[in-house]
Amino acid sequence: MSSKIFRAIWIAAIAVFLASLIFLLGISYNYFSGLQMNQLRNQTALAAQGVSLSGADYFENLNTENYRMTWISGNGSVLYDNEAKAAQMENHLEREEVREAMADGYGEAVRYSSTLADKQLYAAERLPDGSVLRLSVNQAAAWTLLLGFAQPICIVIMIALVLSLVLASRLAKRLVKPINEIDPEKPEQYYGNEEYKEVEPLLRHISAQQKQLKRDQKQIEKNALIRQEFTANVSHELKTPLQSISGYAELIKSGMVQSEDIKPFASKIHSESLRLMQLVEDIIDLTKLDNGGTEMVWEACDLHRIAENAADSLEAAASAVNVSVRVEGTATHLRAVPKLLYSIVYNLCDNAIKYNRNGGSVVVGVRQSGHQAILTVKDTGIGIPQEERDRIFERFYRVDKSRSKAVGGTGLGLSIVKHAVMIHGGRIELQSVKGYGTEFTVTLPDAPKAA
Ligand code: ADP
Repeated sequence: MSSKIFRAIWIAAIAVFLASLIFLLGISYNYFSGLQMNQLRNQTALAAQGVSLSGADYFENLNTENYRMTWISGNGSVLYDNEAKAAQMENHLEREEVREAMADGYGEAVRYSSTLADKQLYAAERLPDGSVLRLSVNQAAAWTLLLGFAQPICIVIMIALVLSLVLASRLAKRLVKPINEIDPEKPEQYYGNEEYKEVEPLLRHISAQQKQLKRDQKQIEKNALIRQEFTANVSHELKTPLQSISGYAELIKSGMVQSEDIKPFASKIHSESLRLMQLVEDIIDLTKLDNGGTEMVWEACDLHRIAENAADSLEAAASAVNVSVRVEGTATHLRAVPKLLYSIVYNLCDNAIKYNRNGGSVVVGVRQSGHQAILTVKDTGIGIPQEERDRIFERFYRVDKSRSKAVGGTGLGLSIVKHAVMIHGGRIELQSVKGYGTEFTVTLPDAPKAA
């Protein structure tokens, strides 16, 4: 960056210098040309007066080194010329300055020499007798003058080049130094500092990005920890049913089991493998939800219908433990992922049945409130102690582990519910009285942002 700034400053300085030089030379050349013309005009006026007073005598003893002086008669023939023989000179009537002087009393002209290396300034004045006196002076052309000055100009340019080189390099270093000295870890310390005024928006940007990075880093670390814990828990949860399956199978294999015990042993193996399957299914569901539900299809659904379907599929499980399930409410439409809505109702109902009492009931309510769909699942079960209400949504957390296992729980149901509600931009709350029952309330917006 420093070399880029240096180059820019240097090029700009040189360009400005050269432009100024050309401009100044042009102005001076014009000024001196004007001055020379003025002088020539005055000299011509003076000489004209002299000639009109003294006639040809005026030219005697005249020192006209700097000027060429020509006296032309009224018919254009040259009467006198201080540099050539008058008699041999051609008629001057057609010369521009002579023509003008004849017509208006005074005339001027500028003519370049054939080589264009110099030019001739002419001033002519008409005398009272009708003749014309003309004075001319030689002037170097602009570029000839420039050529003459080539050496000093080159020296000046060289000095300017070196000077601007040194200055540009110093300036570039001075500009870049404070930027190089910035501590990217603490950009805030430069706020309000005069030296960093121009880069303050950049510093603020860096600071904001750093904060974001730190937040992201924390989130990544947190996620890694959760994943680690989850993997450890999953391994543990898988190991227990597998151990008992393998234990029962081994006993049967060894032939030590009485024939009447084989059936209950096989049914143990069966129930443990069902638990394993449920666990694996829940883990798959959670993993999908962890990916943000990206492959899920959003569509218009009726939450009431979904609730009825979920209740129907739990009918057998409910009657097995003598619990009644009822769905109330009316059709409630919303844009959602139907599979996830089903999973929400199913898991909440499943819990309401599992943690109920014999002869208890479950009431599922679905209603629309403004733009929101509201689902309630109320049971007459064992209730959830106040201090456990936040933790039950954690993965593998159970209030009573042995009861959960006895009813085939995996400890993942409410985590799946919470995740699915979050993907819909909704919220989940619960009210519970220990020993009397629990009511979960899920509120879902009609058009979640994620849609
Ligand atoms: P589980 O598979 O063990 O049911 P969940 O994540 O679904 O796992 O629930 C976590 C824990 O919350 C359960 O083990 C249970 O202790 C408690 N719980 C969930 N729903 C209810 C309910 N309706 N009534 C009483 N306790 C409940």
